[in-house]
Amino acid sequence: MSALYRLLPSIDLALRDLESAGVLAADDLLRPLARYALTALLDGMREAIREGRIMDENALRAQVTPEALRDHVRKALAPRLRRVVNATGVVAHTNLGRSRLPEAAVKAVEQAARWYSNLEFDLSTGERGSRHAIIEELLVHLTGAEAAIAVNNNAAATLIVLDTLAKGREVLVSRGQLVEIGGSFRIPEVMEKSGAALREVGTTNRTHLRDYAGAIGPETGLMMRVHCSNYRIVGFTAEVGLPDLVTLARLHDLPVYDDLGSGTLFDFANPALPVPLTGEATVQECVRAGADVVSFSGDKVLGGPQAGLIVGKKAVIDRIRKNPLARAMRVDKMTFAALEATLRLYLDPERARRDIPTLAMITADPAILKRRAQKLAALLRKSLGDMVAISVVPGASRVGGGAFPERDLPTFLAALKPSCTTAASLAAALLGPPPPLPPLVGRVERDALHLDPRTLDDAEFPLVRDILVSVLAG
Ligand SMILES: *Cc1c(COP(=O)(O)O)cnc(C)c1O
Repeated sequence: MSALYRLLPSIDLALRDLESAGVLAADDLLRPLARYALTALLDGMREAIREGRIMDENALRAQVTPEALRDHVRKALAPRLRRVVNATGVVAHTNLGRSRLPEAAVKAVEQAARWYSNLEFDLSTGERGSRHAIIEELLVHLTGAEAAIAVNNNAAATLIVLDTLAKGREVLVSRGQLVEIGGSFRIPEVMEKSGAALREVGTTNRTHLRDYAGAIGPETGLMMRVHCSNYRIVGFTAEVGLPDLVTLARLHDLPVYDDLGSGTLFDFANPALPVPLTGEATVQECVRAGADVVSFSGDKVLGGPQAGLIVGKKAVIDRIRKNPLARAMRVDKMTFAALEATLRLYLDPERARRDIPTLAMITADPAILKRRAQKLAALLRKSLGDMVAISVVPGASRVGGGAFPERDLPTFLAALKPSCTTAASLAAALLGPPPPLPPLVGRVERDALHLDPRTLDDAEFPLVRDILVSVLAG
């Protein structure tokens, strides 16, 4: 056992090796992190020896070679929030940061971050201004609503709308819409937090207007519709459309709130698109149908930064603005910068489709995706030789972010079958290429690693190749 302990290098010796190998500069800012990582690693090994989990000298020797320690420290020193190459084909991938911002938004964020701004300063009077004014005009113009406000995300939007309009009252929601979104956001629980009482209406698969009508009473404060973001009810089903809900609500002088989840300002059903997607109303359509208040996410299909956008009747938005929660949920300057730049692109839907990566990816032409998959496959074949068999196969991408749930977007994939390992272990190895190469996330299906060009930028193709070469040859 003591022979095993003696194989462990001293921390100082290991740090000196890192310096001579150029992993760590002599005056490196990250030196404490390197020391911490080494200490934790060696302490772990000491414990494993003590508990008899490491008994073989040669196995231990292989774990503490200078190369192994350098590799360990290199990974420990990489920033925790890192770029990832998304080859999954899921466009608004919540685990991968949802939307990539349009170039104009990236520039706006940089300005807002680097310099002072008129965030809350009225340049026409030289006095204090309101940050809410930054995007209200744009949102009003784009959606046709009377007023608008942005909060931190759509979960916050839901909470503040319910708190403002229905605290201590009943909210009618169809049973089929009591959704749980990943990360513990569940409509019944948000309702409870807001102090509103949920009144379920109808059945799981069928809810009729008469169910709502029968549930309205003196306690009713709000009628709410929730987008079924991650499931679909199919078969013998019925839901009440927004116009009918609005008509009923008006008879009883009740407000209607539409939580659109992702929401979209872009008409994906436009028949001129390569693959029109039907079934989701735009925010504009919901406003026109008479909803008093509508909320949606900034970073799902909209393609901007994380935010919750609330549009609706002026009287309602004014009350939301005065709610003390609004301050707790307020949006920061970098988000406003990105949001304004993104929303401006929507003034011309063609520009929006071209310049907002999320829209460009969702509406990509399958014929072009096929050519891009072939280009990627050819590039990879050239460098990977017979380490991997590569073909181009038809497949499906997803919108993500809870929009168009369960709907497949036709695509073409580069399918990789490695010769010396399984697709699953290749996929796992691609999550940890040596820094500074970013991790690559693909999808394993039918014993092949699938790379979907839909969520890759052309400029990322050589990077995909470099990551694969380093992982397969390394
Ligand atoms: C995604 C979603 C939310 C939460 O939106 P975030 O922007 O992620 O906070 C709320 N409601 C519905 C229906 C959703 O799909």
